[in-house]
Amino acid sequence: MGGTFDPIHHGHLVAAEEARWQFDLDKVVFVPTGQPWQKPVGVSPAEDRYQMTLIATASNPAFAVSRVEIDHQGPTYTVDTLRRLRRQHPGDTRLYFITGADAVLQILTWKQPDQVLAQAEFIAATRPGFDLDRLVSQVPGAAGRVHRMEIPALAISSTDIRARAARGAPIQYLVPDGVAHYIHKHALYRPPAAAEPPDPPAGHGTQ
Ligand code: ATP
Ligand code: MG
Repeated sequence: MGGTFDPIHHGHLVAAEEARWQFDLDKVVFVPTGQPWQKPVGVSPAEDRYQMTLIATASNPAFAVSRVEIDHQGPTYTVDTLRRLRRQHPGDTRLYFITGADAVLQILTWKQPDQVLAQAEFIAATRPGFDLDRLVSQVPGAAGRVHRMEIPALAISSTDIRARAARGAPIQYLVPDGVAHYIHKHALYRPPAAAEPPDPPAGHGTQ
């Protein structure tokens, strides 16, 4: 399951666990993006996103986190990541790329969608507001390689969580407790303007 995970939230975790169960997967590997070329600005440091993903997945023995993208310098392409993951696993391993239905749309803009579809099948989780069937019919080679997965709709997005954290609204119960704690401790998503200007040092400016 690839994602920016800025931050990881319960929508991601519900989708991952449901995919594991519905498709009888041995393992779900979370792959935080390195330097995402689709979202080049304003993304939190890879190490913070990696740590939050580790914290969120630690309690599930079937979940693992891969550094394959964050340890790669420069923009990463899904097709290259899938090739690397394939090299790390036995030849007969079936790879499924778990995404939200909205992310399937990005297949259309990914480099070499036919190559991506050759490396892995897709599990597309229903996400409110996206018509997956229409998308699949528009992507050559997608029929039969993209599987629909019904999941309980959770209207949670990282964008909303960042905005909530920025204005001091609660994020508890949208993300695992450990992730909320990490966000507060490291003051992620706090706008710089919200920081109090430091008091001038005593004696400064008295001349
Ligand atoms: P952002 O708002 O920054 O785009 P996001 O919440 O969409 O973040 P991503 O890291 O972009 O999270 O998503 C990783 C993957 O998880 C994508 O395939 C996305 O479609 C899927 N996903 C995200 N939120 C949900 C959700 N609530 N339910 C199901 N799938 C989700
Ligand atoms: Mg997204």
